[in-house]
Amino acid sequence: MDVIDVVVIGAGQAGLSSAYFLRRSGLGFVVLDHNEGPGGAWRHRWPSLTLGRAHRVHDLPGMPLGEPDTTRPSAEVVAEYFGAYEREFGLDVRRPVHVHRVAEGGGGRLRVESDAGTWEARGLINATGTWDRPFWPYYPGRETFRGRQLHTAGYRSKEEFAGEHVVVVGGGASAVQLLLEIAEVATTTWVTRREPVFREGPFDESAGRASVALVEDRVRRGLPPASVVSVTGLALTPEVRAGIEAGILRRLPMFDRVTPYGVAWADGREIAADAILWATGFRPALDHLAPLGLRAPGGGIRVEGTRVVDDPRVHLVGYGPSASTIGANRAGRAAVRELRALLAPVRSAPA
Ligand code: FAD
Repeated sequence: MDVIDVVVIGAGQAGLSSAYFLRRSGLGFVVLDHNEGPGGAWRHRWPSLTLGRAHRVHDLPGMPLGEPDTTRPSAEVVAEYFGAYEREFGLDVRRPVHVHRVAEGGGGRLRVESDAGTWEARGLINATGTWDRPFWPYYPGRETFRGRQLHTAGYRSKEEFAGEHVVVVGGGASAVQLLLEIAEVATTTWVTRREPVFREGPFDESAGRASVALVEDRVRRGLPPASVVSVTGLALTPEVRAGIEAGILRRLPMFDRVTPYGVAWADGREIAADAILWATGFRPALDHLAPLGLRAPGGGIRVEGTRVVDDPRVHLVGYGPSASTIGANRAGRAAVRELRALLAPVRSAPA
């Protein structure tokens, strides 16, 4: 077992940003990540999600992404960028290392247990994202469906659905993007729980700040963070407008049950389907923190900035208001600044 100042779990945008500021802080740290290589969740995203179709991947601190080819899959471009970043700053990410449990350790430290050993840390930066916890809501009959069911996390390409009828569930940006893509080779039905809200005009900085403030308020109160789209609405791009006009983005209310052959509503209506694509989002991957008992009665973890209110040794970066590439950057800096003050009040190295 090693004793160390800080363990960072996860080497996506949030974990790498934290590692960059930790390197400058003088604190000792280790970064553990269970992926096979660099890129965080981006390395798993479907090949047609090119950089040109992503909203925007912000630069990591200290090294710009530059002007990459926007027609290449973001999975490749971001993995290459993160890999170069790790090399540039000598960030020794240990991988593949899965952390399965964080519990109270000795001497006021946290015990981080992984499949590659145990660390006792004075501080913890948790940057595990959401990709590893796809959310599949349960609807009666789901297990009886004879066709294919998959979650966004398992989507690879539209060609797999050629000539089929696909029901796409979910009101987020991924649902919209995948519907437009799949509709090029298949027929589709879109179902969402709530009427989607399309946002006219660009999503400017003040609208961005307002949405982040809403999510910030939720996590401060210990509620589960809301999805970004639930507070920002869906961007009405020319492609989306064309999809609405073509009827692809005409949504139906959520069905009541899944049948062996499709989906059905309580009023007797049924739609036959070959596949159901659950674009129903993700939840924070925090199961390994359960032994610390951080959950608030509201179902989330009470977080102020990045600091867990009930345990200031623990910071959640890339969580709630910082679950975006720009938010993750800022969160890394904020977490390190606070941990440095908590763990090494006498040191004065700049962060
Ligand atoms: P991740 O990139 O998910 O990294 C988490 C890392 O933790 C992973 O490498 C994982 O292997 C590791 N890990 C998890 N659990 C463990 C464990 N127990 N032990 C060890 N390692 C573990 N944001 C934007 O700003 N622009 C966009 O265009 C955009 N598009 C998106 C598209 C999709 C489909 C999705 C789902 C999200 C998108 N986002 C976008 C959000 C954005 O990708 C993330 O919020 C951002 O990249 C922050 O990443 P992260 O570091 O928090 O998490």
